[in-house]
Amino acid sequence: MSEMELKELNKIWQEILNSIELEVSKPTFKTWFVNTNIVERKGEKIIIGVPSNFVKEWLKKKFLNLITKHIKKFFQDVKTIDFVVVNKPIISISHIYKKEIQSSSKLEIFQIDPKTNLNKKYRFSNFVVGSNNELAFAAAEGIVKNPGEKYNPLFVYGGVGLGKTHLLQAIGNEILEKNKNLNVKYLTCDRFISELVNYIKNQQIEEFKLKFKDLDILIIDDVHFLSQKDRAQTELFHIFNFLYDRGKQIVFSSDRPPVLINDIEERLRSRFEGGLVVDITPPDYETRLAILKMKLSEKGEYLPDEVLSLIAEKVQKNVRELEGVLNKVLIYASKKQQINKEILDKILKEYYQDTYKLVSPSRILNIVASFYEINQKYLLEPTRKKEYVKPRQILMYLLRELANLSYPAIGEKIGGRDHTTVMYACEKIKKDIQRNQDLAREVEILKEKILNG
Ligand code: ADP
Ligand code: MG
Repeated sequence: MSEMELKELNKIWQEILNSIELEVSKPTFKTWFVNTNIVERKGEKIIIGVPSNFVKEWLKKKFLNLITKHIKKFFQDVKTIDFVVVNKPIISISHIYKKEIQSSSKLEIFQIDPKTNLNKKYRFSNFVVGSNNELAFAAAEGIVKNPGEKYNPLFVYGGVGLGKTHLLQAIGNEILEKNKNLNVKYLTCDRFISELVNYIKNQQIEEFKLKFKDLDILIIDDVHFLSQKDRAQTELFHIFNFLYDRGKQIVFSSDRPPVLINDIEERLRSRFEGGLVVDITPPDYETRLAILKMKLSEKGEYLPDEVLSLIAEKVQKNVRELEGVLNKVLIYASKKQQINKEILDKILKEYYQDTYKLVSPSRILNIVASFYEINQKYLLEPTRKKEYVKPRQILMYLLRELANLSYPAIGEKIGGRDHTTVMYACEKIKKDIQRNQDLAREVEILKEKILNG
């Protein structure tokens, strides 16, 4: 297999991973799917490289169906999927494929350093700075120049897919680039919590604390997940104080500002707020275009400017989506498909459908119920009380739009209603959205909540 083919395969694998990520929980994805890669395709067989035997067994036992389902979407003729343990990925992969892969730099999935947890692909140099993130970026630069001095802690917040993780990891990578003797650790909040739980289980809490004592830089991503995690909050508070008192740099990210994180201790909140708090917002058109160009050049690919403008116009929500759509466009382009407005619409539809398909009906029900503060059973029962009618219609509409359920299937879920009733409800909401700005916004928020958790 040539380098090109392997590269192509792994681009598709990345797409497959993106879809899988939407279908499993975040911790599941991180534990079992990160650090996997396609290492070979032999006719009807695809071989996936994984970091350990444990992961291999687990994927085979629990996720083979899921993986097969997604692989089949791209490779109809693949019949078997095998796993191979790739121990020290960077070395062994390039060893196995030395002849074929001249430069292994494209295999970025394998670039996570086990000591720092940093992925080397996140750099300042490939982070596009626009008006949406320039403050956050300036603060990050300041930290790299003088860690622990000016902005401590740095607290970056913003919505999903806007570059928080990229920026946080880049801070770690840039600091190490300047001084490789510094002790840097990046942790997602999930990872922090699950490690803590493990250490507690094994009665090794002191060992857990020790792991943080000689850090120079501590980076913790997505701290909104600390909500209601009392023990983790307490430990983080003490670790924070210990490091902070010694002039060590601490960086946090979250999907919302500290004041809006529910159920956390006041003293921890005030630590979050004690340095610099900056936000990252969705990129404007120019920035989106620049990001597309950056991503293209990283992939060593080319698309005409008109195509990039089309994408940048259409995909506005966040950078992850921008990348996802770009990848899909590249696949179409590689099949010699001329990319025009119509094709892009089709690609977008496909992209969103792929995303939406994976949303479970119970999740939609949960979110609609809690949004309108209605007990779920009133949404499902046939009561005709006025205050339930609209939420129930919206629920039906979202089940149709996001979970792709048929009218009869929705009717069945919602208290055995006739499919014409469901159809009527969906059509009504669709029409009302066009006339009623408030309703449109409401449904937008609900969709956002459902899709982005
Ligand atoms: P978040 O952590 O905010 O959810 P990520 O940092 O994971 O978002 O970003 C999602 C994707 O978008 C990543 O691949 C990241 O590299 C890319 N990205 C986000 N912002 C930028 C940017 N300003 N420049 C280049 N790439 C970006
Ligand atoms: Mg992130």
